[in-house]
Order: sequence, then structure tokens, then C-alpha cells
Amino acid sequence: MPGKTHRIGPSLIETARIFAAEESCHEYLQAARWPNGVHCLKCDHDKVSKFQIAGKTRTNKKGIVVTGPMRFMYQCLKCKYQFSTTTGTIFSDTHLPLSKWMLAVAIMCNAKKSVSAKQMERDMGVAYKTAWHLNHRIRKAMESPEGLFSGTVEIDATFVGGKYDERRARAKYGKQAVAGVIQRKTEDAHSKVKAFPVKKEIVDVMTGVIRDHVSAGTHLMTDDHGAYRGLSTNGWKHEIVCHTQDEWVRGNVHTQGIESFWSLFKRGIIGSFHSVSVKHLDRYLSEFCFRFNSRRDEQIFAAVITGLVIKSALRYKVLTGPTDAELDALQVSE
Ligand SMILES: [Zn+2]
Repeated sequence: MPGKTHRIGPSLIETARIFAAEESCHEYLQAARWPNGVHCLKCDHDKVSKFQIAGKTRTNKKGIVVTGPMRFMYQCLKCKYQFSTTTGTIFSDTHLPLSKWMLAVAIMCNAKKSVSAKQMERDMGVAYKTAWHLNHRIRKAMESPEGLFSGTVEIDATFVGGKYDERRARAKYGKQAVAGVIQRKTEDAHSKVKAFPVKKEIVDVMTGVIRDHVSAGTHLMTDDHGAYRGLSTNGWKHEIVCHTQDEWVRGNVHTQGIESFWSLFKRGIIGSFHSVSVKHLDRYLSEFCFRFNSRRDEQIFAAVITGLVIKSALRYKVLTGPTDAELDALQVSE
């Protein structure tokens, strides 16, 4: 079927072949980090020498001495600072060879319904905690860039999570509200989406969402929920489809784009995870938005790698790992 067969990243076999050697990973990361040639991380000088050092040896939890992969280093010819392609990035503090990182990124780019840490643990042959970190770091690299939507935009909210109580046939705990904004496709661009947790689907919150993510004067489509009252008096052209009166489509007035995204996200959540902790919901949403927005993009793999290398140097500190209790809870839920 045309349009359904395109790849969204390199195949796993290709990735494994291209990045089998640490040196190829290192060269790929070098090009991603310094497209205009290697510059010293300390003084920005553009002349550096290259050298290699043997991998560090350490004793793992099972008491076996293991040797890490060969490391490829640079030394600044001006200030003598020594660094590598991964210095200061999220790649730098793991024992994992870069070839495994590359494979993990390819797995995540290719997985339409996401990958649980349990699945990553099995696919990669790494410990659960390592797999959990890999998944969340890659998700972090998938955060959508800023920028306002325009043209024709659909807005909606949905509710995610909450444990289901079978005996009472209803949600046991409160669900998290999630807002979504989709810019419909135009002649030269396919549709794109942003979604994130919000406090509630109420006027103040949803008007704030629209102000933060949609240009003034944009044509807005929503359902007839009370949270979207007053939008036309705020400078937007607003059209409503009356879901409460069983009206779903009126000409081009509908919210089917954002609703399909919700069903994709929910199928992914149900398919790969039985539940998702509210604490990390924003990152799962980033992951699904990123894959949706990059679905025609052959460069999705490179975009994630660049995100991991460049953004991570700034952002890693805010991403803390799970506590042991959270890990236990995740093991049960995934
Ligand atoms: Zn220097």
C-alpha cells in the first residue's frame, strides 16, 4: 500500500552492521557533534590530535572482570584538554558500548508502538535498569522543538492512565488529562502534532495551551466541550463540531486528526505498557509525537542521535533515574 511501506529509520540489521565497530560509532558521533570539524570543548580551538586508549576494566556484579570498548580521544593542541565525542553527553557515563546505544536508538525509532524497558532488556541483553535509562534518555532526545502552529489546527484533550477496576467496571484512580494540538497538512507539509499533560480540560488551561502553541488568527477546530468557550473573541477563527449531539464531521470541521493520534498513543500504551506512570507521561508523549512528526523523514535516526549528543549535554542533569521502589513498580506494570 503506498505511503504505508516507508521506513522510519535504518533497519536493525543495517544498524547492527554499520555500527558493529566502536570506531564507526565514534566517527558518526563526531560528524553529528562537530559538522564543521572537531573543536576543543574547553577553549573552542579547532586544532586537535587524535589518539586511542584501551577500554577500562572493571568487575561487574557477577564478579567477572570485563573490559570496556576501545575509546577514541582528542587532545587540544592549544590547552591540552583531553575529550571524546561523548564527553558531557548522556553517552559518557554508561558502561555500554556505543554500538549498543546505536542499536537501542534504531529499535526505538522503528517501534511504532514504543518499547518497554522489559522488551529493551531482552532485545539488548542488558540489565533492566540500564534498559530503563536507555529508553528514557532516548525519549528525552525526542522532545519536540518549539514553534507555533498555524493554518488549520485541531485541539482536543483526552485522559490517560488510571488503574481499571474490573469488578466496578470503571477507573480506580484518577486519570491524567492530556492536551493535544495538531496542525493539519498543507500542500507542502504533512500534519504535525504536540501533546503534553495538563492540569484539567478547563477554559483557563486550554486557552493557555492555544496561546503557547498556536499563532494568533489561526483557524481552530474543537469539539463542543466548555473548555473552548470564548476562543473567537480572543482573535482565533473558531469552529465547533458538536460531539454531544452526535455530530462528528461537518464539511472540513472535525477533530479527527487529533483523535487518530490519541488512538495511536493509547494503542501504543496498551500494547507495550499496561500502564504508564504519570511522572513520565510527558516523555512517552514526546516519543509518540516525534515518531508521528518524523514519519516521512529518512533522517529520523540522525535526528535522535543529534538530540542525544547535543541536547543531552545541557539537559541530562534534570533526568534522574528511578528509585528502587519506582523500579519495582515499573517491573510490575511493564
Ligand atoms: Zn583547548
